[in-house]
Parts: sequence; structure tokens; C-alpha cells
Amino acid sequence: MTQVRSRRLVILGSTGSIGRSTLDVVGALNGTVRVVGLAAGSGWEALARQAHDTGAEYVAIGDESHYDRLRAALPAATTALAGADGLVELVDRARDAADADYTLSAIVGAAGLPATLRAVERGMDIGLANKESLVIAGSILMPLARERGAALLPVDSEHSAIFQCLHSGTHAEVRRLFLTASGGPFRKWSAERIDAATVDEALAHPTWSMGPKITIDSATMMNKALEVVEARWLFDMPVERIEVLVHPESIVHSMVEFVDGSIVAQLGAPDMKTPIQYALTYPARVAGVATSLSWSAARSLNFEPADPQRFPALALGFDAARRGGTCGAVLNAANEVAVELFRAGKIRFGEIGRLTARVLGRHQSIESPTLKQLTAADQWARQELQGCRI
Ligand code: NAD
Ligand code: MG
Repeated sequence: MTQVRSRRLVILGSTGSIGRSTLDVVGALNGTVRVVGLAAGSGWEALARQAHDTGAEYVAIGDESHYDRLRAALPAATTALAGADGLVELVDRARDAADADYTLSAIVGAAGLPATLRAVERGMDIGLANKESLVIAGSILMPLARERGAALLPVDSEHSAIFQCLHSGTHAEVRRLFLTASGGPFRKWSAERIDAATVDEALAHPTWSMGPKITIDSATMMNKALEVVEARWLFDMPVERIEVLVHPESIVHSMVEFVDGSIVAQLGAPDMKTPIQYALTYPARVAGVATSLSWSAARSLNFEPADPQRFPALALGFDAARRGGTCGAVLNAANEVAVELFRAGKIRFGEIGRLTARVLGRHQSIESPTLKQLTAADQWARQELQGCRI
């Protein structure tokens, strides 16, 4: 087996879909990766169980009301932290007292940004699943990572694919990046039917099993919109060179076209353990727990253009990436609120994209924003979206 660099790992969002898959991957790496910090939002029982299983020294829970119960359920040697500040402190304490050198960032939404930012600030390498961090603050995170020598390794399957394909040429030799999209559960639905889709229908993803927010984002194709912005930052690529292609089988995870017309693609089973493991073991490749794709039966791979009429959210990602400034923060925040309102039965499915578009359209972007200005833009967008409903 190729030698894998040993790591001391903090998992932000350890109880979620990506967090649990990360723990499976870590288990299969036979002790080369040791978990020293764990963080979650409110699931204190699962978090305490994970602390027992991994022997993590530091644990943080976002919802402070669970602090006492969490602490009582933890092993005696584990330190408990709580609240939004507790997540940031977890990164600092794990770095200082437990030699943590890697953070797997898998909290969902803008809530993941402060601790991710701190891990970058502290020069830790990052396995990035929390795409919202880059959508909001790519203009700050990317230069900071370079300055602190923190590697940003994509966990998002499309970006992991592109990262791998880019090894075939130089940055100047790239013509286009193709982000593939499954098309979600409503790929073949009419616009009218999509508009009235229920929460259960939106949560029934055809190829990927994921947390609820990203599953709804896949149904609107807002997930791909966020991924366009993510790709723009991760690969320093002008948005004019990024394209989206619907590929319902989710086997080709993304592609890079070089200037000579050659297209390099990365393929595999739709299993997040593959990109998670690659982000953890890079540059090594090892056999692990991920599913191997079977070619024993005939298999067809289909590609079709995305339909901007039925999936208007997609254009918002291109718009936000082109305008830059505070637009990513606004796009993300408006969408987060809209998704919550939809899940609570307060708005129709079609309104997620429409209301988010209205908020982004009204926004006056600030160029080269500070973190404070990004946070203010996020707050403005949340209020504005709530206001749109009245
Ligand atoms: P999930 O809902 O399954 O898990 C989210 C995790 O974040 C949980 O551990 C939860 O406790 C934690 N969390 C939520 N709010 C928090 C808060 N305020 N403070 C601290 N922790 C909080 O979501 P997921 O599907 O695992 O997705 C996580 C991230 O990874 C998202 O940014 C998503 O876009 C990205 N991602 C996920 C997948 C996937 O297959 N699931 C694929 C690509 C990218
Ligand atoms: Mg993805």
C-alpha cells in the first residue's frame, strides 16, 4: 500500500452525512488518521458516541443548550465546548494542544465558515465539503490559504474530479471546466409540476444520499449554482470557462477540456467516500471503503444541456460568480432561508429560486469586501428574503 501521511484530524459536522462517511474512511485507514476533534450542531448523543469511538480530545456542540448533557455523556478525558465560538475554539485547542494538522469541513451552510476560516488561519490543511464557505468568502479564504500554506482539498465530488483532471495539464492549458449535475429528482418534470413539488418529492434524490439542505439544493439545481462559484474560487477560473452539463447517471463526476481539445474526465461510483478519502490521503491513493464501479453489465452514460427555464436557480450561480464582491454571500444566505421556509411548508418549491433571484437582483455588491462586510451582506439577504414574502 502507498504510504499515507499520518494526520491528526478535526471533523466539523461529524454527525452529518459527510461527517459519518469521513469516520468510515478514517476507520479503513488503519490508524494513519487519528481523530482529535469533533463538532456538530445539535445531535449531542451521536456526538458523544463518536467521542467514545474515536477517543477525540475535544468536542464542540453548536447548540449551547445541549452542553450539560453532552459533557455528562463524554469520556472523562474529553473537553467539551459549546456555541458558535466553541466551534472556533475547538479548532484552536485541537491545533495547540493535540497537534491537529487537518480539518474536514462538513458543517452545512454559513454556520461552517468561522471555524473553517480559523483552521485556514492556523495553517491546517482543509478537506472542504462545506462549499458555502467558499461561496461566501472565497475572496478571503483563497489568498489566506496561500499565505498560511494551508492546502484546500475539495471533497465535493465534482471539484475532486476537476482537481484530479487538472493534473493532466497546466492552468494556462485549460479551456473549460465541465461540472456535471445529476439533474435531481425533477429532471424530467414540467415547470408547473416543479413549482408545486412537495418536500418529500424534493428530498428523493435519484443517485446521491445526502443531508436534507444539499438534497433540496440539488432539486432546484442551486447546488450546481453554488458549485459554479466554488469552482471559480478553487481553480481560479473565470466563470466564462465554467459550464454545467446534466449527466443523470452520476458516474462521470466532472471533466476538464484542455486547449488541444482533449477532455479528461474522472469516473467512479456515486459514493462520497471516494472524494473524502482522496482529500485525506492526497497525493497518495489507497484501497479503502468506497464502492468500486462494476462494468459487468452494459452501462450507458448520458449527457444533456441543463434547462435554464425549468431550473432558473442555476443562472444565479453564474451571475453571482460574475459580479463577485458580496454576491456569493447574498446568494447563499437568501437560498438558506428560502430552503428553510420551503421545508417548513411556508413557501412553494418554485419560490426558492424566485425569491433568491429577487434578493440577489436587489443587492448592491461591495467589491473586495472585508469579512465584516460579508457577514453584513449575509444578514441583509436573510432579512430581505423574509421581507419578500410579506
Ligand atoms: P448534514 O445535514 O447531513 O450534516 C450537517 C452537519 O453539520 C451535522 O453534523 C450537523 O450537526 C452540523 N451542523 C449543522 N448546523 C450546525 C451549526 N450551527 N453548528 C455546528 N454544526 C452544525 O449535511 P451533509 O450532507 O453532510 O453536508 C455537509 C456539507 O457538505 C454541506 O456544505 C454540503 O453542501 C457539503 N456536501 C455534501 C455532500 C453529501 O453527499 N452529503 C456532497 C458534497 C458536498
Ligand atoms: Mg457536488
